[in-house]
Amino acid sequence: MRQRRQKMAKKIKVILLFGAPGCGKGTQGRMLGMLPGYVHLACGDVFRGIDQRSELGRIFSEYSTKGLLVPDEFTVRLWREHLNDMVATGRFKPDRDVLVLDGIPRNMQQAKLLKPFMQVIRAVEIRTDRDPEQLVARLRSRALKEGRADDAQEGIIRRRLEVYEKETTPVVGSYPKGIRAEVNGLQSPMEVARDIVCGILGCMLPSEAGCRRTDAIWRGCPRSGGKKKA
Ligand code: ADP
Repeated sequence: MRQRRQKMAKKIKVILLFGAPGCGKGTQGRMLGMLPGYVHLACGDVFRGIDQRSELGRIFSEYSTKGLLVPDEFTVRLWREHLNDMVATGRFKPDRDVLVLDGIPRNMQQAKLLKPFMQVIRAVEIRTDRDPEQLVARLRSRALKEGRADDAQEGIIRRRLEVYEKETTPVVGSYPKGIRAEVNGLQSPMEVARDIVCGILGCMLPSEAGCRRTDAIWRGCPRSGGKKKA
């Protein structure tokens, strides 16, 4: 029992941010990371932060330029090392802060590998599935602004969208409904931010609005400013 308590105490509190490439996950994650007690960590930024001429950098480039996921063991090891470094340098205080994780876990195997370290308090998905063309357009414009090779070619963008559907969507669905929130990503960044905060705080109205907790905002919950269902 004592041993179990010690193990539990080591788990970090995490909010998982999901969403297809181009949905605005990075912007929203950075915004949440500015709130007191919340620290943002994007897996893609960890990869882009390593020396691109190193062996690790070359592995990242090999996969990301094809629109594929970097192998799991390698990804999780790098992510853990980065997190340990954040703890050692005081950028993340596990006993006080909530980690806003963006871009990991991205498939079921990663979710399994991360499970022993984290206590997921919310899994938020930013949904844009009604308009994949808008995502393609957003990513192409990001390629011009940020010079990201994986955003430059339409074929690669479409493969990343497929990988999200096939590999990441099942991960979102694997968390209990009670901790999941879906947010309409086809709104202004401010509206998306409002709905994410609302989802994190759990301030949706399940029965009154005639909608379930997990999709209250997506369907337009009165309290989230959407239209009331007839
Ligand atoms: P986006 O969400 O727009 O695809 P990211 O910055 O999150 O952009 O990721 C860029 C690339 O980095 C991915 O296409 C993939 O190659 C790699 N990557 C990021 N996170 C992971 C992960 N958790 N597992 C495997 N590969 C990843």
